[in-house]
Amino acid sequence: MRIPLFIFAPFKIEFMQKYLILSLLFLEAIIVQSVIAQSKLSPYQKHIDTLASAYYEGRRAGTKGDTLAARYIAQQFANIEKIELLGNYGLQEVSYIEKQSSGATKEVHTFNVVALLKAPVRNNPKQNRIIIGAHYDHEGIKRFRGKKMLHPGADDNASGIAFLIELARELSQNQMDLRQDIIFIAFGAEERGLKGSAYYASHPLLPNEQVKAMVNFDMLGRMQNKGLTIRGLSTAEEAIDIFRALPNPDGLEIVWEMRGNGPTDYSSFYAVGIPAFSFSTRVHKDYHLPGDMPAKINYEGMEMAHRYIMPLINQLAFKKIKLTYTPQN
Ligand SMILES: [Zn+2]
Repeated sequence: MRIPLFIFAPFKIEFMQKYLILSLLFLEAIIVQSVIAQSKLSPYQKHIDTLASAYYEGRRAGTKGDTLAARYIAQQFANIEKIELLGNYGLQEVSYIEKQSSGATKEVHTFNVVALLKAPVRNNPKQNRIIIGAHYDHEGIKRFRGKKMLHPGADDNASGIAFLIELARELSQNQMDLRQDIIFIAFGAEERGLKGSAYYASHPLLPNEQVKAMVNFDMLGRMQNKGLTIRGLSTAEEAIDIFRALPNPDGLEIVWEMRGNGPTDYSSFYAVGIPAFSFSTRVHKDYHLPGDMPAKINYEGMEMAHRYIMPLINQLAFKKIKLTYTPQN
């Protein structure tokens, strides 16, 4: 049946108006969404917001939040194609004795999270490796000005873990071109005296003899005045030349620290004969305080750190490297 158009004309106009308004609303929703997406572009934010949230209780070694954080990281590695988990579904158990303030001692159980990205055998017949790591633990929930407060550790060191996970994803995309196997490790109990990294260095899941270098990230989230610190330049003969040749497209203010025994996990590897380096955006006023929150992370600074660090990682991962270990004198 054909209905004369004029009868329905007013309805039709109304329908078209509604349709137009609806489609405008829809378009607006898309625009708003893409603006939100743009303001959340950093791939690091998801990991930092997650690990620094109250659910993870500040990730003090041995707590429930600490275990949950280790599992979160293992799951992130598991989600990346071509990466295999080592240990027990990615977890290497670490135990140590801790002295309480009362003087009593207790045994603490925590983890290192360990994952492997293998180079094709034809590129790497001797199965040489590099280790890339960052610690995931922090200070937990503890007293601050008389009140028990969450110490979220967004910069220290959820930022380094976010960097590590996304770096693993990036390298996995060019896995066919790798010339070294890469072991990714999220260390437990760094804040309790480098316990996790020292345990791994003395109980490696793959032999240390094939490990040519170690690179560590500890606090990459609070860049100020374009400052970036690199530790460990005295740990290999070639290190100064390699670092001197790195491009610096953002004009970062680099501070070099020579020693191989600085206060973070790279020193555990230097101690067992491996050239080791550590990157950090330096200490700030919220260091080890409740104010080390996700909202204060400088994502643009993390991107600048990434642009600086990537050529070094690419050299280590995709080229034949020669790094001659230098003992401390
Ligand atoms: Zn730290």
